[in-house]
Amino acid sequence: MTPQPAPARQRSLREHNLALVLQRLASDGPASRAQLAAVTGLTKATVSSLVDDLVAGRLVVELGPEARGAVGRPGSALALNRTGLAGVGLEVNVDYLAVCVTDLAGEVRYRRTRAGDNRRQSPGRVLARAARMARAALAAAEAEGLAAAGLAAALPGLVETEQGLLRTAPNLGWQDVPVGEFFSGRFRLPVAVDNEANLAALGELWFGGHDGPNGILTDFVHVSGEIGVGGGIVIGRELFRGVRGFAGEIGHLTVQPDGPPCRCGGRGCLEQLAGQEAILRAAGLSGAAGTSMGDPGGSVAALVARARAGDSRTLQAIEAAAHALGIAIAATANLVDPSTVVLGGLYTSLEPWLRAPLAAELEQRTIAQPWSPLRILPSRLGPDAAVRGAAGTVIRRVLSNPSAVLRRLAGDGH
Ligand SMILES: [Zn+2]
Repeated sequence: MTPQPAPARQRSLREHNLALVLQRLASDGPASRAQLAAVTGLTKATVSSLVDDLVAGRLVVELGPEARGAVGRPGSALALNRTGLAGVGLEVNVDYLAVCVTDLAGEVRYRRTRAGDNRRQSPGRVLARAARMARAALAAAEAEGLAAAGLAAALPGLVETEQGLLRTAPNLGWQDVPVGEFFSGRFRLPVAVDNEANLAALGELWFGGHDGPNGILTDFVHVSGEIGVGGGIVIGRELFRGVRGFAGEIGHLTVQPDGPPCRCGGRGCLEQLAGQEAILRAAGLSGAAGTSMGDPGGSVAALVARARAGDSRTLQAIEAAAHALGIAIAATANLVDPSTVVLGGLYTSLEPWLRAPLAAELEQRTIAQPWSPLRILPSRLGPDAAVRGAAGTVIRRVLSNPSAVLRRLAGDGH
C-alpha cells in the first residue's frame, strides 16, 4: 500500500460518505439516488456527486431499462458493479488447497479445490501450488471482466495477520512461514493472511444467508471439523480475535486430560477425539489406502454413506465425536454465551447424526441452557466457508474504503 497524504477534514468526510453510499447498495440492494439520499441523510446533490465517482471507479453501475441513455438521471437504479472488482480467496489446508473469486456482491464467480496431502511437502512447494491456482483464478476472473482488488489466504494455524506470518500450523508441521510475503512477492495485489477458522466464521456471517427474519446470527461460535478442528467466535457481528489474533482455538481445548497426545504438545485435545482422522479411524475408514488422505471429499462421502446406511460402527464413531464436541462447545458457551453453534467443515454433512447426542451434552453441561438454549445450525457454506470468507475480506475492504480504490485508479492514470 502506498502511503497517502494526511487527509483534510473535508476529504475524509467525502471518503466516509463514499463508503456510506457503497455499503448501503451492498446491504440493501439496488436503489435510486433519491432513495440513497433518504436512507443516508445526505442531500441529493451530494449523493449524485458521490455516485459519479463510484460509477467512474467501476464500483457502481446504472441498472435497468430506465437507466438507458440517461446516466445521472435521478430516477435510475444503481447497483454494485458485478463486472468490476473482485476478491480472490485462497485456502491452504492440511489435505487440500482451494481458491475462489467473488464479485463485489459476494457471488462466487470461480471456485476450484485440489486434494493432496500437504504434510508431505515443504511450505515453498505447497504455497507455489497455491499461487498457481490463484493465477488460474485471476486469469478466469479477467476473462469475465473482473479485476482483483486483493488476495487473502486462509491458513490452518496461528497467524500474525499484521506481519502476514504463519506462526505455527501443527498439523502441517510448519513454523514461522512468511506466507504474506510469499504471495506479495508474486502478485501485484494487496495480500492478507488469516486463520482459516476465523475466516470460516466470517464467511458464514457474511454469506451464510442468516439475515432472514428468524435467522439473524450476531453472536455465534463456528466450529469446523477438518484434520484439525477450528473455531471462530463472533460477538456482536464482529470476530473476537484476542490480543494477537489467536483466539478461538477450540480444537485444542482439553477434553480428556490423559487422552492421546496432540501435535500442539497437549493431550486429549478436541481435535484428537473429534477431528476428521479420529472419526474416520473410529469408523474403520482410515485403514484403506487413499480413503483418508488425498481425497477428503471421498472419505467424508464414504463416512456419510455408511452413516446413512445405519452402519453401527460409523454411528458410534460419530456419537463419540459428538460427546467430545459437546464438552468443548459447552465450555465455550459457558464463557461467551452465544446464541448459536454453527457446525462447519466435515460436521456440516454429519450434522443429522451429531445433533441429538450433541444437544444432550450441551443441555447437561451448559449452565444457561434453560434460559438461553444453544441453537445448533449446520453451516450453509460447509467446506467453502473459509475460502469464501477470505475472498469476502477483500470485498469488505473495498466496500469500507472505496476511496483507496479510486485513488489507485487515479494513480494508474485512469
Ligand atoms: Zn492440541
